[in-house]
Amino acid sequence: MKRLAVTVAFLAIFWAFCAPVRAENLDLPDEAPMPAERPLDAPRRESDPQPRAPKLVAIPQEDADAAAKLCAAVLAKDKLVAAPAEAAMWDNGCGAAGQIKISAIKRKDGKDITLRPAALIRCETAEAVADWIRDEVVPATETYSGLSRVEVAASYHCRPRNNIRGARMSEHGRANAIDIRAIVMNDGRRFGVDLQETPLQLLYDLRRGACAHFTTVLGPGSDGYHENHFHLDLAQRRNGYRICQWNVPAPPVPAPNPLRVRYP
Ligand SMILES: [Zn+2]
Repeated sequence: MKRLAVTVAFLAIFWAFCAPVRAENLDLPDEAPMPAERPLDAPRRESDPQPRAPKLVAIPQEDADAAAKLCAAVLAKDKLVAAPAEAAMWDNGCGAAGQIKISAIKRKDGKDITLRPAALIRCETAEAVADWIRDEVVPATETYSGLSRVEVAASYHCRPRNNIRGARMSEHGRANAIDIRAIVMNDGRRFGVDLQETPLQLLYDLRRGACAHFTTVLGPGSDGYHENHFHLDLAQRRNGYRICQWNVPAPPVPAPNPLRVRYP
């Protein structure tokens, strides 16, 4: 009987010491609120001898507060339609302290331009996407019946660059990038980097606008991985270095104007 009492007392003390630890762990969700992609080939620390499932890490309170403030400021500008997304960061570098899921960009006349599927992206990058579409893509597409929808090929995705095992972390893993597959006009036409009916002038305009708004723009001819979509991100580099690599086919040479031909 005495031995039982000692055991119960020991367990009670042990439980009491463990309680704070358990309470801390409760702050972290068991399930990732971000997309479920936690591939074993995601970037990992060099000290890891073999692939392992990434673990959630606690986000410093000041980082979480700054991200929440920035997201609130972006949403207050009323440029986009977005649902809140819970912050999550992983010990392999994936995730972000503040992001939203944008389902549409609001044109300046108030109409919505749908993003399909909705893009999970950090808030400063979401605002850059909204500005690029409102300031560049909408005006550039007016002559083709106007922009109705943007087809998104990828947004947040925890993976190495170009899905190459061992490569550096993609900006997609930081929720800092978006891939665009096509843009769809009000009359139903689809335009994209590999779609034959896309006007060359529109491709020029898309590239010019993208390179003005983003620090990385990759399209056909950049690295062989962007032949059917283009990639936009806000990666920060030393000295403000920017990458704008997207080959647009040369336009046909206009026929000489016969009125300007000089005759001997
Ligand atoms: Zn991409």
